[in-house]
Amino acid sequence: MTGNSAVRMALNRALIFLGPPGAGKGTQSKRIALRCGVPHLSTGDMFRDAISRGSELGRVVQPIMERGDLVPDDLVMKMVEERLARPDSAGGFVFDGFPRTLPQAMQLDRILGKMGFGKPIVVDFSVSVDKLLRRLSGRWTCSVGGEIYNVYDAPPQKAGICDADGGKLFQRPDDRAEVVKERLAAYERQTRPLAEYYRRQGVLDTLDAAAGMEDVSRALGEIVKRAEGQNGRL
Ligand SMILES: [Zn+2]
Repeated sequence: MTGNSAVRMALNRALIFLGPPGAGKGTQSKRIALRCGVPHLSTGDMFRDAISRGSELGRVVQPIMERGDLVPDDLVMKMVEERLARPDSAGGFVFDGFPRTLPQAMQLDRILGKMGFGKPIVVDFSVSVDKLLRRLSGRWTCSVGGEIYNVYDAPPQKAGICDADGGKLFQRPDDRAEVVKERLAAYERQTRPLAEYYRRQGVLDTLDAAAGMEDVSRALGEIVKRAEGQNGRL
């Protein structure tokens, strides 16, 4: 944590990110969850955890994720609903990689209503396809601590080795170039209509995700503060 991102801020509802894989939603969603003291809920992490544990759900989603396809709505919703039932989600939360389809968004609205939450804050991360391909297909992950590097933009000091713990770096199956292209296509087909859905509800904000990490953090912080301030006045 650096600079003003260490200042605690309020978030009393769901914070949702839209934008293609590689737009920086993962990093920014973790940072803002820390700042707000709420759980960071990544469906990708939940599924990878299920796969590494070899659970029933994990065995079903593993081949789907390795092909670069989106996991079917019923499986995603099952996992999310279970997660939101845990006590640490009672005060608000940050989603990462969810919702990805219109049916997921509509079902989430019903769940949020049942839990007594108001409208979510939805932030659309806007970035060009060329930038995304470079970011994503250059991504390598540490096999020990899970640190993420980019061979173009944020390489480790020694090729293939993690700076933090000396772990070997590997490329996750869903970061390979051909899988990345399929993920982007799947994103365009299925997720883009979400922006329109949330825009019509008047809860959508857009930020320039091609800006530097600190600038994106600052812009995101302003959006959350403004949204929570408006909530207080209503
Ligand atoms: Zn490491």
